[in-house]
Amino acid sequence: MARRKKIYEGKAKIMYEGPEPGTIVQYFKDDATAFNAEKKDVFEGKGVLNNRLSEFFMVGLGAIGVPTHFIKRLNMREQLVRSCEIIPLEIIVRNYAAGSICTRLGLEEGLQMPRPIVEYCYKDDKLGDPLVTEEHIAAFGWASQQDMDDILALALRVNDYLSGVMMAVGIRLVDFKIEVGRIYDGDFQRLVIADEISPDSCRLWDIETGRKLDKDVFRRDLGNLTDAYTEVARRLGVLPKSPRTVGKPTLIN
Ligand code: C5P
Repeated sequence: MARRKKIYEGKAKIMYEGPEPGTIVQYFKDDATAFNAEKKDVFEGKGVLNNRLSEFFMVGLGAIGVPTHFIKRLNMREQLVRSCEIIPLEIIVRNYAAGSICTRLGLEEGLQMPRPIVEYCYKDDKLGDPLVTEEHIAAFGWASQQDMDDILALALRVNDYLSGVMMAVGIRLVDFKIEVGRIYDGDFQRLVIADEISPDSCRLWDIETGRKLDKDVFRRDLGNLTDAYTEVARRLGVLPKSPRTVGKPTLIN
């Protein structure tokens, strides 16, 4: 069998050339990294869960008219996505204080934000993805003013969608990160939600108990990461109700 061409290998995913021009196969690994890859581990089944959860969120967003790069899930670990030019920004939306904003502004973890706060970081691992302002983004040409207006609107729509979906299953959406890509249709470009949406890129707390169900479980050594992600998937109906396997999750087709 012919080997397919690897385009890029990141910390949690590998991108391969897709079967048609303009498509990419996104493969979800079991690797977890934190603190700019200073901390690393492997959690069996994490990639399978994130593939399925990201599909769930991207399909849901598509259904309410938020464009995404997602085409279809191919198998347990892979999904077919549209190839796009990634805008070099990590777009973070915060509903409650946690993580870097607590360190930066001295806020107490869990403090509700007066309104959703949107932050932009420049995507550069070597620099540790520094926080940037719209002034930097415009001056260095990473995105136009029109792009920024569209990105803000997209980020807030994703926030409303994800907050609602999570609240319905007893989970608080504390914050999340998205990436946005450009797709060219002839002379026109449009922006789509790209990369992944999963517990690797969100903070999710159980509303009743405050239990963390996201990558902070790994960052802060709070237990088994796969257990936490399995719980999110189970509540969303992506996994069967009975908590059967932890290492190798059984998926509903
Ligand atoms: O670390 P910080 O508090 O700024 O992260 C905010 C949110 O963005 C968290 O949900 C975190 O998981 C996510 N994030 C991410 N990838 C990064 C940085 C942050 O998914 N490189």
